[in-house]
Amino acid sequence: MLDYKKVDLHLHFDGSLPIEWAWETAQKELGLTDKEAFIKSMQVDEDTHSLYDYLARFDMPLKLLQSEDNLYEAMKALILELDQQGLLYAEIRFAPQQHIKQGLSQKQVVDILCQAKEDALRECTQLHVNFILCMMILGEEKLTHELNEETLYLAKEYQNRGVVAVDLAGAEGMAPMEDFRELFMKAKELGLVYTIHAGESYGPMNIEKALSFGALRIGHGTSAIQDEKVMELLKEKKVPLEVCITSNVHSEAVNDYEAHPIKSYLDQGILICVCTDNMTISDTNLDKEYDILLQKLGFTMEDLIACNQRALESSFASEEEKQKLLTAFRSGSWN
Ligand SMILES: [Zn+2]
Repeated sequence: MLDYKKVDLHLHFDGSLPIEWAWETAQKELGLTDKEAFIKSMQVDEDTHSLYDYLARFDMPLKLLQSEDNLYEAMKALILELDQQGLLYAEIRFAPQQHIKQGLSQKQVVDILCQAKEDALRECTQLHVNFILCMMILGEEKLTHELNEETLYLAKEYQNRGVVAVDLAGAEGMAPMEDFRELFMKAKELGLVYTIHAGESYGPMNIEKALSFGALRIGHGTSAIQDEKVMELLKEKKVPLEVCITSNVHSEAVNDYEAHPIKSYLDQGILICVCTDNMTISDTNLDKEYDILLQKLGFTMEDLIACNQRALESSFASEEEKQKLLTAFRSGSWN
C-alpha cells in the first residue's frame, strides 16, 4: 500500500460491491451455492470484449441492490472498505433509477443511501465521501428522459446531504450525446454541476459535446488523444479527466495498458485524476491502479501524488470541505 492519501473521484457503487457482502446476500436471497461461478458472473474475464459485455457484469449486482436493507448494508460495507484501503476522499456515484425494479422510488433509494453514508462515516477513521447521481443512457434518450429528469431534481433536493453533482452513465453511443443537452441545461438551471462519461466507447466528438454542455470533469476521455482540437479544448478549459485504466482495458476502449494514452495526457498537460470505476467488476483498487501506472506506464510517485492533489482540487466538495481535505492531504491529519 502506498503511503500517501488516496482520492477516487470516479467509483460506481454497483460495480464496486464488497464481494463478501454480495456473496452472503446472494446465498441468502437467491439460493446460490457456487461461489466461484458467482464471482465469475460479476468479474471481467476473457469473454468480455466490449463495453456491452462489460455492462452485463452489472446484472448480478443490480439484482442484489433492489431493497432498502440491501442498499443500506452494501453502501455501508463499501464505505468501510474504502476507509480501510486508506482513502481520504471518494465521490461514489450511482443511478437511483437502477434500483427501483422492486418498487422503491428513486427518492427512497437516495434517502437510504445517504443514511448509510452518514452512519458508515461515523465509523471511519479518515474517509470523507460525497455522492454523484447518475442519469442513464439505456437506449434512445426518450426511454430514460423522465427518470433522468427526476434524478436531477433529487440531486438538487439532497445537496444538503452530500449529493454534490450529477453524471450521465450507461452505454455511451447508444444514443447521440446531443440528445441529452436538454437535461444538462436543466441541471444547469437547477444550479447543479456535472461530470459526463464521454469518449470511452465513442469518439472524441462526445468529449467536445460534453464540454459544450458545461461539464466540469469528463469520465474517461480515452479517445481525446485522437483529436488535437479536443486535447487543446481540455487544456484551455482546464477540465480534468477521470481516468480508469483497468476499466478501459476491460471495456476494450484500449487494447492493453501500454496503449493507454494516460501518460501522453500527463506529458501534454491535460489534467488527470486516477480512478477505479468499478473495483469489483475489474477486480481492482487504487493501489493496483497505481502499481500499473508505476510499472508499465512510466509514472513516478510524485506524479501520483500530484494526481491526487489535482483530484482534490477538482472534486465537487464545497470550497470549505475542499480546503479541509487539502490541509489533511498535505499534513496527513483529518478530523
Ligand atoms: Zn464510470
